[in-house]
Amino acid sequence: MSDVPDTRRSVVFTSEVAYESERINAAAVYCSDGRFGEQCDDFLHNALKLPRYDRMIVPGGAACLVGHEAVHLEEGGVVEQLKFLIEAHELRQIVLIAHEDCAYYRQRLKVADDEFETRQREDLATAARRLRGMASVITVECFMLRVDGQTVYFERVEV
Ligand SMILES: [Zn+2]
Repeated sequence: MSDVPDTRRSVVFTSEVAYESERINAAAVYCSDGRFGEQCDDFLHNALKLPRYDRMIVPGGAACLVGHEAVHLEEGGVVEQLKFLIEAHELRQIVLIAHEDCAYYRQRLKVADDEFETRQREDLATAARRLRGMASVITVECFMLRVDGQTVYFERVEV
């Protein structure tokens, strides 16, 4: 009888998605809101052709990269984590996605509903500048996620 535990006994699920070891040197930053997770994957995988992209999923997404006083403690952590990914995973491309009706903007940043769009666009632009400044080789693309009934769509935001 072996003392080595049979770890297979504790397996509760085996993914049908195969592991691929190659990194694609791209990351996306978007909000934790789980109502949009699968659509963001769909967009990044199928529209931007970025399989296996690194995910930096935090409440408010890029709102944590622009120096908002109300959330500067969160910001420090997010910036450090992104710096790590930029170096360790040799990121060359970062995608930022803001979404309509983001609770982070309403509740943490206290932004009025009619100012959401303006603030989010400003934040995407500021975050993009900051990320480009962190590593000159990085390209940054920005998008706005919108909802119409059950349809989720993505618009490019030029920054
Ligand atoms: Zn959100």
